[in-house]
Amino acid sequence: NDKKPTSIVVFGGTGDLAKRKLFPAFFNLFLEGWMPDDFELLSLGRTEHTQEEFRAYILENIKAFSRIKNFSEDKWNAFKEKIKFIRFDITQEESFIQLKNQLDYIDTNLGSRANRLFYLSVAPSFIEKVSNSLKKNGLAENVDQDRMIIEKPFGYDKESAVALNTMLAQTFKEEQIYRIDHYLGKENVQNILAFRFGNTIFEPLWNNKYIDSVQITVAETVGVEDRGGYYDGSGALRDMIQNHLMQILCMVAMEAPTEFESTEIRNRKVDVLKSVRRINPEDINHYTVRAQYTQGEVEGQHKRGYLQEPGVNPNSNTETYVAMKFYVDNERWNGVPFYMRTGKSMSEKASSVIISFKEAPCTTFKSTVNTLKPNKLTIDIQPEMDIKLSFMTKKPGLEMQLKPAEMVFDYFECSPDTPEAYETLLLDALDGDSTLFMRSDQVEEAWDVISNIQTAWEKGNVSKMYTYPAGSSGPEAADELLKRQGHYWFTNS
Ligand code: NAD
Repeated sequence: NDKKPTSIVVFGGTGDLAKRKLFPAFFNLFLEGWMPDDFELLSLGRTEHTQEEFRAYILENIKAFSRIKNFSEDKWNAFKEKIKFIRFDITQEESFIQLKNQLDYIDTNLGSRANRLFYLSVAPSFIEKVSNSLKKNGLAENVDQDRMIIEKPFGYDKESAVALNTMLAQTFKEEQIYRIDHYLGKENVQNILAFRFGNTIFEPLWNNKYIDSVQITVAETVGVEDRGGYYDGSGALRDMIQNHLMQILCMVAMEAPTEFESTEIRNRKVDVLKSVRRINPEDINHYTVRAQYTQGEVEGQHKRGYLQEPGVNPNSNTETYVAMKFYVDNERWNGVPFYMRTGKSMSEKASSVIISFKEAPCTTFKSTVNTLKPNKLTIDIQPEMDIKLSFMTKKPGLEMQLKPAEMVFDYFECSPDTPEAYETLLLDALDGDSTLFMRSDQVEEAWDVISNIQTAWEKGNVSKMYTYPAGSSGPEAADELLKRQGHYWFTNS
């Protein structure tokens, strides 16, 4: 194929993300012929491993986590030759000199300068050191060829995100920086744009004249597991709303891009974020509900409460659940509430967007008004991947009675083997396509949207910390939030 030879460098190659997501994704891309003909996968980690040990470890994880069922021994044998483990300590300058030698050696053998893709799969506290050392050693100087992927969390608040962007700008041009939000790589999130702008019949209705409200839900059954220490310093607002849910909101609310092109699409998303109404601190309880899980049962397993989790401060003020209401104050969305909720240790794992349309003007079916249900468009993101449109039909029979029916497009049925989000995103980064990655202003604006909430919550007593039993669908206060406007959370059925 015509892809440029590439040296891929994974900082944190022995970590959790690398084993569960990155290596399986690279392997799948390789199996399906998407990787460049010439590439090297340099995997950096602190502990000593022989090449054989490390490759066996990668193989074990590919078998455990890859979506591909037909494992090919031959393909693996070809792939494993590309993997090279390098013992590496980010804090030691010597390590970067060794890396430089390694990258130069690859280029010399190739007879040309390979592209370089640096993946920072390490704690955010290392970003600055890595960035500075790459610059000092001249490892990422070629703007057209060298790229850096950065994981979430990107900053802790607006100020730190701005500082991080400023720092990175000393080494990289913006077009070299790929800030990953893996939700943007999910098939049915990308599909929102195809659905909206590739059809004639939905977009004319996609506004406040016809849409009553929008609900975005990202529910997880997992708790904080063994990441209590990390999570306690973050919480659902920072860990989920600021990035994943806000990005989904952008896809649903954005204006039509003039073309399917990175700058244009990202501009339209930033427009949405700028239009999201900032919540005044004194109104915080009117717009938000936060909560922590207490002990309960999730999928038949007993789960301890958040405050009892290892690594969590027993007096913690960190939320594991958020429900909130946003408004996008522009012409299209004026007055339409966007409800969002996300939580850990919930009854089911489900991410979805539900567009609820206004009720039909019910002159014709006055007598059946109780059975009339507004049209609803559901976009299931995970684990289901489908689009469902509900509408009213005549109930078969002699009388004129109405009942709701549903049309379903099921992704799995059409294509049971859809790629993982990380495959899509890694391939885009290899190809230099940043459409699905976040630009600096997008990240900063998204932090700005939640900034007043962060401040109000951190003040303590301003808003109550509710609780919900693990395995439930969240606190009752989240229902009240919607009830005030005559709304309720839709269950996914
Ligand atoms: P991890 O703790 O499992 O792995 C961290 C890696 O950093 C290890 O390979 C470790 O060897 C390496 N490391 C630590 N100190 C080092 C040093 N001084 N020199 C060289 N290497 C060093 O973390 P993770 O879960 O893989 O997460 C990595 C990044 O990805 C983090 O920024 C995290 O927030 C982000 N992330 C992870 C997940 C996930 O599912 N694990 C999801 C989203 C984002």
